[in-house]
Amino acid sequence: MTYPLSSDHRALQARVRAFADRFLIPHEVHAELNDGAFPDGAEAAARAEAARLGLCAMNMPKALGGSGLSTLEQVLVSEQIGRVTNGLGWLVTTPARCLAEVATEQQLETWVKPTIRGERHECYAITEEEAGSDVDAIRTTARRDGGHYVIDGEKWHVTSANQADYLVVQAKLADGPNAGTHALFYVECRAPGVRFVRTPAYSHTYAHHHPIVAFEGVRVPEANRIGAEGQGMAFTHDWFRYERLMIAARCCGAAERLIEEATAFAKGRIAFGQPIFDNQSIQFMLADSLTELWAARLMVYRLAEAHDAGEDVKILHGQCSMAKLYGSEMANRVADRAVQIFGGRGYMRENVAERFFRELRVDRIWEGTSEIQRSIIAGQLAKRGQEALIG
Ligand SMILES: Cc1cc2nc3c(=O)[nH]c(=O)nc-3n(C[C@H](O)[C@H](O)[C@H](O)COP(=O)(O)OP(=O)(O)OC[C@H]3O[C@@H](n4cnc5c(N)ncnc54)[C@H](O)[C@@H]3O)c2cc1C
Repeated sequence: MTYPLSSDHRALQARVRAFADRFLIPHEVHAELNDGAFPDGAEAAARAEAARLGLCAMNMPKALGGSGLSTLEQVLVSEQIGRVTNGLGWLVTTPARCLAEVATEQQLETWVKPTIRGERHECYAITEEEAGSDVDAIRTTARRDGGHYVIDGEKWHVTSANQADYLVVQAKLADGPNAGTHALFYVECRAPGVRFVRTPAYSHTYAHHHPIVAFEGVRVPEANRIGAEGQGMAFTHDWFRYERLMIAARCCGAAERLIEEATAFAKGRIAFGQPIFDNQSIQFMLADSLTELWAARLMVYRLAEAHDAGEDVKILHGQCSMAKLYGSEMANRVADRAVQIFGGRGYMRENVAERFFRELRVDRIWEGTSEIQRSIIAGQLAKRGQEALIG
């Protein structure tokens, strides 16, 4: 590793790599052939080990029971978890930071601390059929009714809703002094008026589904509002920024695994009397992949350190877009080349390249598509100039 990581950081990296190698990667093919599920007993073992290693709620403050890892440490963990397919690494959890930052005492006890302890599970309901990239176009409303809000709307792609106890729902305020602004609310999955409409099938094979969820006159007490009226969009932007960096980190891990496995295969596979690795065409694919991985990794590590140093959040916003854009597109190129290197084997679902080829595609879509990242970056370039963004 050429990046100057401390011995503690390298030790963390090694621990999480060993965890992924021993507790997650061996179960990938089973998961692929069984709707994303671990074999019997394996999930409990993996969860226990993840908890022992302090990987649950790794971004949450220690005072609340989280691991309180620095951003650089979280990136190192996410990178190793990114080496795993089928979402098996999702038992490493990172609840949205705002939930803890603005929580009331009651919210801490009801939602935040149980989530940190792994006893309760959350999901995020922001996107709608007519509002994905353009979040401000959401039609879900929260209307005041005495000490309650009444929520109406329908959310799409609600990741993990099938495993969650509660949703964090983004809605537009329908009335009052802040009408038209956004707010986030805790909504129990079993609250009257919450209806799971259907669960579409997606390209990847994950145990975490992405159902469409309707909210039909759902009454939530004012105490379920997260922060103040009007803060919803700022919380979502904070979450996007964080997730974009972690997606970039996971993409680096995926690329690392693909390069490792494709290189090993290329060295062992004999065609026309020699390892296919000896062909320049194969070497060039691996060389391009390694070079691009290094560039992405340097961006991710540097950006994580910038977060830890408390650098200007407006600049970090543009830089997170760059890391997510480059990292996700890099990993997709690497996966495509890996499939090619594996040949027919690369088209088999038991092959890691085939799985990543499908799974990594969404990293160019969720938490803001590549086009949206580019427009954020271009907007920042126009507003702040090159030097502010890349030094
Ligand atoms: C597997 C999966 C899980 C998800 N999980 C969640 C979740 O848990 N919670 C949640 O709230 N959402 C979730 N999402 C939603 C995800 O964030 C959105 O799909 C994403 O933001 C894109 O929105 P959209 O699908 O509506 O695409 P659209 O906004 O309809 O975009 C369609 C196309 O138009 C392009 N486009 C749109 N606007 C512009 C523009 N201004 N300039 C150039 N091109 C543009 C886009 O880049 C894209 O190529 C998930 C999505 C998927 C696929």
